[in-house]
Amino acid sequence: MSAKNSNKKIVLLPGDGIGPEVTAEAELLMTGLAEDYNFTLELQTELIGGAAMDATGEPLPQKTLDACRTADAIVLGAVGGPQWDDPNLKVRPEQGLLALRKALGLYANLRPVRLHPKLAGASPLKPEYLEGVDLMVVRELTGGSYFGEKQEGDDFASDLCTYSRKEIERVVIRAANIARDRGGKLTLIDKANVLATSRLWRKVTESIMTERFADVPYENMLVDAAAMYIVSNPARFDVIVTENMFGDILTDEASMLVGSMGMLPSASLGAGSFGLYEPIHGSAPDIVGKGIANPFGMLASVGMMFDHSLGMQEAAQRIEAAIWDCISNGECTQDLGGTLTTSKAGEAVRKRMGEYDSSSLVSG
Ligand code: NAD
Repeated sequence: MSAKNSNKKIVLLPGDGIGPEVTAEAELLMTGLAEDYNFTLELQTELIGGAAMDATGEPLPQKTLDACRTADAIVLGAVGGPQWDDPNLKVRPEQGLLALRKALGLYANLRPVRLHPKLAGASPLKPEYLEGVDLMVVRELTGGSYFGEKQEGDDFASDLCTYSRKEIERVVIRAANIARDRGGKLTLIDKANVLATSRLWRKVTESIMTERFADVPYENMLVDAAAMYIVSNPARFDVIVTENMFGDILTDEASMLVGSMGMLPSASLGAGSFGLYEPIHGSAPDIVGKGIANPFGMLASVGMMFDHSLGMQEAAQRIEAAIWDCISNGECTQDLGGTLTTSKAGEAVRKRMGEYDSSSLVSG
């Protein structure tokens, strides 16, 4: 047997609810690809979220953080669930994820939203509004009101929202580069008519776009108008860049364009090739244990990992093409109108991947 090309360490954080169910499919996919591309895959599974709280009292144990710091990439399922919603608990599962993103400097969250034509009927929107939907939301992930100083009492509460020029610059530059690579345009979404932080976002973004990205079309839009356009004319968007909370809300709204929360992947990136990859859905307590969770958002997240963190673009394209073909052929879970279980849908993707060689790959 020939020597392996390289060693890649991936930390798996299955988390809570359906997290472990979709992470199991990610593991099988990665294991198969390590064989195909002849690299040694070192997988390490660690605790996060509610599962970590139950075992250690902490949503992000030090052991998990230490493992993540030495990895090439992290694959995360989901965190949270009703059993940890007790307001008297000192910590919450979500704090584990927020702390992990912050500790690893993962400041840019990339969420592609592309509609498979077959799924137009699965969206609550009329199909004619959905034609040509192919957008990328770049959400700032480690600043704003989610991380600002908090005060909480019975009669008063406050969440401080702050942004520095540096925090805005780095995420806008990343988004502008994506827009340039796609041959598209950049839309900054803010609330500059009311918020001081938004006015800084607008000033910084305008100067970056004028000085460094004059070839990339640019516009800005108020978040209230954007919320309306995402459901009335979503194809008008290409790359969106926005602050943490607006991005959180708008990406869930945008997920409905493609029919199911279970479809969408995400990548949380910092300065280098390292990244954290997770589907955008939560722990889906209403379907946990039923074997019906859609694994495609998770598998597409693994595709983003192969592209960005492992530098294996062909593998990434094969994953994307296989998911696309599965949907074309109705090989999917019931949220997308199919009948497959989570594991059968994962198996269908792996089977289709075996059918491609590099010359047969189609994009789109
Ligand atoms: P959710 O995404 O878990 O579920 C929303 C709806 O989408 C549910 O009906 C669910 O069944 C469905 N759904 C989600 N993923 C699916 C999949 N893969 N296949 C099929 N259907 C799927 O959101 P929620 O119900 O608001 O939150 C549940 C828990 O998850 C909460 O504790 C919340 O805090 C947590 N949460 C975690 C993350 C994360 O880990 N990044 C993100 C969002 C919510």
